[in-house]
Amino acid sequence: MVTLLINSILPSQTVGIIGGGQLGQMMAQSAKEKGFVVGVLDPNDNCPAAQVCDFHIQASYDDISAIKKLANQSDVLTYEFENVDSKVLEPYDKIGKLPQGLKLLKISQNRQFEKEFLVQHNIPVSPFEVIRSVDELKKALKVIGFPSVLKTIVGGYDGKGQIVLRSEEDIKDCQELLKNATCILEKWVSFEKEISVIISNNKRQEISVFPVAENKHVNNILFTSIAPARISEACAKEAISLAKRISKELEACGTIAIEMFVTETEELVVNEIAPRPHNSGHYTIESCSASQFDTHILGICQWAMPNIKSFSDAVMVNLIGDEQSKAKQVVSEKNNWNFHFYGKKDEKPGRKMGHITILSNSMSETLTEIQNQDIWQ
Ligand code: AMP
Repeated sequence: MVTLLINSILPSQTVGIIGGGQLGQMMAQSAKEKGFVVGVLDPNDNCPAAQVCDFHIQASYDDISAIKKLANQSDVLTYEFENVDSKVLEPYDKIGKLPQGLKLLKISQNRQFEKEFLVQHNIPVSPFEVIRSVDELKKALKVIGFPSVLKTIVGGYDGKGQIVLRSEEDIKDCQELLKNATCILEKWVSFEKEISVIISNNKRQEISVFPVAENKHVNNILFTSIAPARISEACAKEAISLAKRISKELEACGTIAIEMFVTETEELVVNEIAPRPHNSGHYTIESCSASQFDTHILGICQWAMPNIKSFSDAVMVNLIGDEQSKAKQVVSEKNNWNFHFYGKKDEKPGRKMGHITILSNSMSETLTEIQNQDIWQ
């Protein structure tokens, strides 16, 4: 059983992916290049990953018999998002079919565990308190103060399940959130930049690490990532060093992303850990010698981890909702834009439909070019 963890998974063996969105799709594309058979479990017919996989088990993520079916057909299992019930995956972790492991999953799917883990390992985080009621919120605000942000400890993403508190006036808006969920209250970090470090491991403690990305969010959804981040060399070095420490302590395998805030004085505050490839690492597909999806597959399959070479500065910009249709209008004009469309049909507001990566000789010119398009308003 343990041999599965130590031995490499080889071409023609099967990678099973839980979750068939764009991350699953890009993992699958990378796995196919390496000669694997790829299966996906996802409830949606024609989900992005199913369009490029060998087989699709159409079932919900908590369908135990469907997960069992995927596991029986796979030599290694992986997940594309953190909200999988770790209990359901326990049996496969025990037999060595889930190299990413449950520690990483359990910590990253719960903001309280995540923060406590980081504090325990002397990683800088924003001051926080666990909050179960409005009374506890009022007490905690006396210590943490305004501005601050209340976040559900499980299930939130892209700013969902979060309320920013600027004054006592905002406390009443938190009642509903607290009725349904335990939360944490976090001090608002007055950041200069948001960055992320993408890092991948195999079980032999070999590492691939990518240039630090600088991320800009609009309405809490990632809008652009710029790589390398426009921070000092010392700050980038420190961010990578923090990421290495975190991934080591988490015994991470495959690709993870660590999101951080950079303050005006270039101090780093860790915000969040994603136990999987991340939107801010999409730029690696074109600008690096291996992508974050390649190194994810290499890591979980126990292949050698490459030293990453970056060939170019890059800007990645997301296509959200109807930005996809607008981007389709310019595919015949933009010879230096690398278009990615995920094969999703319904252009709902806030839904990630695709992205574009531009390899750039001049970051400011590229950013101006993006700004001047009608695609993003
Ligand atoms: P999260 O879901 O924790 O990644 O939060 C989504 C976005 O909200 C982050 O990328 C930040 O832009 C912002 N944000 C979250 N927490 C904080 C904080 N403590 N201080 C400042 N901005 C924050």
